[in-house]
Amino acid sequence: MAGNLFPGAPAHHHRSQQCVMAAPPPAPAGQNGVTICQLLARNSHPPVLCDRAITDASPRTVQDHISEFHPEHLEGQRTNCEWRLNTGHACGEGLSAAQLHKHICNVHLRMFACQCPNCQQMFSRPDALKRHLANKNNECGA
Ligand SMILES: [Zn+2]
Ligand SMILES: [Zn+2]
Ligand SMILES: [Zn+2]
Repeated sequence: MAGNLFPGAPAHHHRSQQCVMAAPPPAPAGQNGVTICQLLARNSHPPVLCDRAITDASPRTVQDHISEFHPEHLEGQRTNCEWRLNTGHACGEGLSAAQLHKHICNVHLRMFACQCPNCQQMFSRPDALKRHLANKNNECGA
């Protein structure tokens, strides 16, 4: 589905442009390190999936990607997350536009996910695991 789906944006996005902006290291041979952006374009009907690769996804590279390809998501103070979930629907969570990239890294890319070494429960962030381990009311409390 190539073509000019994003009026106002260049018809073709060249890999080299992305590399110049974020200067990411080359992606490893496997799929590790490459994230496919699931953001839905806001001003298109029906919604069009971004589907671009974000190399070496991190809060920084995701933020760069949003600024470059999804500036309409950053208009105004508040935004709604348009990340497409497995259900096919957009996330829809309302948040501060400045927090959108962190939300995506946290919630959708599970970038900071960690697992309790004792009970194998998953937590979205290290501080949640810390609280879990510090909680004397569960069997994992130190
Ligand atoms: Zn995108
Ligand atoms: Zn979301
Ligand atoms: Zn535990």
